Amino acid sequence: MSEVLKLTILTPDREFYEGEVVEVITESIQGDIAILPDHMPLVTTLKPANTEIVQKDGKKLKAFTSTGVLEVINNELKILCDSCEWPDEIDIDRAKAAKERAEKRLVSQKDGVDVKRAEMALARALARINLK
Ligand code: ATP
Repeated sequence: MSEVLKLTILTPDREFYEGEVVEVITESIQGDIAILPDHMPLVTTLKPANTEIVQKDGKKLKAFTSTGVLEVINNELKILCDSCEWPDEIDIDRAKAAKERAEKRLVSQKDGVDVKRAEMALARALARINLK
């Protein structure tokens, strides 16, 4: 039995996090998931979420993680995400503006509005606002 997992979180722009952790809680398309050491192999799709990381030293971190893919194999947990931010990196005004834009698109439902895209933009904005 292992007491830790190696967590790597990558975006196209940067290596967001690498370290030994004891738990990661996030949201997949099937619902909330908690990954602990010795988790069975898993590949799943992530929704925009507030991801909680419990480090080996007991410190808890929270971060916004956007859509992506999560993979667990042999106590290595990899998250490949479109974007990630720590709370102090989030521009709250930008997130509020993104929320308003998405809500207007969803209410108007004019021809040409891509509903799924607007829903995802709203989910990203709400997760960022909730983390701030
Ligand atoms: P926007 O419409 O404001 O661009 P978005 O949800 O479409 O929001 P993303 O596609 O998720 O944006 O991210 C594009 C880039 O902008 C990423 O590098 C992401 O980290 C950054 N970003 C987006 N929104 C914010 C924010 N509110 N605060 C800080 N960085 C942000």
